[in-house]
Amino acid sequence: MSVYSVPSTSQPPHLAPLAPFDLVIFGGTGDLALRKLLPALFHRYADGQIVAGARIVGIARDERSDEAYRGKIREALIQFAGEQAQQTEVLDGFLALLSYRRLDLSSDSGWPEFAAEFTDAERVRVFYLAVGPDLFGVVSDRLQSHGLVNPKTRVVVEKPLGKDGVSADAINDALARVFNETQIFRIDHYLGKETVQNLTALRFSNALFEPLWKAEHIDHVQITVAETVGVESRAPYYDKSGALRDMVQNHLLQLLCLVAMEPPSSLAADAIRDEKLKVLRALRPIENGNAAAFTVRGQYKAGAVEGRAVPGYAQELGAQSLTETFVALKAEVKNWRWAGVPFYLRTGKRLAERVSEIVVTFRQVPHSIFEGLTEQDPSSRLQPNKLVLRLQPDEGVKLWLMNKVPGPGGLRLRHVPLDMSFAAAFGGRQADAYERLLMDVVRGNPMLFMRRDEVDAAWKWIDPIRAAWAASAEAPRPYTAGSWGPSAAVALIERDGRTWHEDAS
Ligand code: NAP
Repeated sequence: MSVYSVPSTSQPPHLAPLAPFDLVIFGGTGDLALRKLLPALFHRYADGQIVAGARIVGIARDERSDEAYRGKIREALIQFAGEQAQQTEVLDGFLALLSYRRLDLSSDSGWPEFAAEFTDAERVRVFYLAVGPDLFGVVSDRLQSHGLVNPKTRVVVEKPLGKDGVSADAINDALARVFNETQIFRIDHYLGKETVQNLTALRFSNALFEPLWKAEHIDHVQITVAETVGVESRAPYYDKSGALRDMVQNHLLQLLCLVAMEPPSSLAADAIRDEKLKVLRALRPIENGNAAAFTVRGQYKAGAVEGRAVPGYAQELGAQSLTETFVALKAEVKNWRWAGVPFYLRTGKRLAERVSEIVVTFRQVPHSIFEGLTEQDPSSRLQPNKLVLRLQPDEGVKLWLMNKVPGPGGLRLRHVPLDMSFAAAFGGRQADAYERLLMDVVRGNPMLFMRRDEVDAAWKWIDPIRAAWAASAEAPRPYTAGSWGPSAAVALIERDGRTWHEDAS
């Protein structure tokens, strides 16, 4: 539906127009706002979900007029918002919702004038903190002291939520001084991805998978989030973080939770978050005694990615460092459903391919009557069924099965995927995760956001791994940019008689 058509009452809820709201982006000129938040809001406007009367205010420290801000955002949308941004009328309509206010968040000046603009207490007010976490506390306090917090107020915070359990606690305490837990939306944008939401749909709306979803039938699970990009100019920031904190503590653990959780009793946000929390609490601790066996950390050195020579991490940083740009680890969920089923997680920068996927590998059939008849495998053994959920680059689901190769010439079997690419199956533009998440904030639906106790539990599992690494004399293992990480990561899984999934289809 275009923004100029009259909304129909029979629209599905995900497209139903939302009552006009106020949304303030602290950090309205930053990379996140320009590349993700404003394009996402623009698409929701172009699809008719955000209507005239909504107000989007960008905040930063520079002096600039509303017009200058709109000009900046116009350029960003033309660059990042695809085809829809070529429609001048729609683009102008969206830009008319935008305004800019200059505020230095570390000072109180300008706040009374800013606060005076929010007069309608019945409107939803969203404050998106697209600034560093060091400002979360001070902004929350100012929002409160200037009377901007009411029951319709919501605050959105981005990662990193701390660098360990203690600092995450301090951030969460600062937010809790001002907001109720139901008003705090902690974004993990992986949870807004179509495939991730589809994981819950696949598991709990089909009779096929859930009876098999347990140790008796599942051999192991792999979760890979591989990037080809390096840290480049972000090296000074990244060096304080590393792959474990930047990726595993949030994105990979959230994915693990959605695979491993028990069926929630409903789609209510807390029903799902309660189940995810139980998974985090059931993770077998990795600490001094077992970190060397269950984890591998690496750091890229110079190499070539996608045919282009790239420098190593230390060169980009301009110094030697012990920060890991790659992690592989073997996790275990200690409960009846998952006893003995390893969850292999790996993530890294400057890897061979950009791919994020969850691979659920089922157990072999108990007895094969097809010995010697399998095409691909030199040992001619049957290949296990795999359910592969791809988050990027092409969101979709593949179910790998053994199939007879058609035609005469005897019985031969081949491992082939039933392939459902979302783009091919559903057509149209694939919405970005932030579109769904931002609209959920306005609607007040916290289902796809992390609750405080989930963040705490994730840090409780991550902190001892870091402590074990710090206590060990070993440095991260070097790997060549453009490879799949250190060879020890291959050994981690091959020691168990398994291999990392490679899609040869
Ligand atoms: P960025 O490009 O450095 O932008 C920061 C924004 O905050 C700018 O608009 C900056 O404007 C404003 N700002 C900084 N200090 C301010 C102050 N004291 N008062 C008012 N405005 C201030 O950072 P970013 O990449 O957008 O990231 C923002 C936050 O989101 C960070 O915490 C980051 O870790 C997190 N995050 C980012 C991404 C991403 O894709 N970029 C993804 C996940 C999480 P002025 O300097 O002009 O004031």
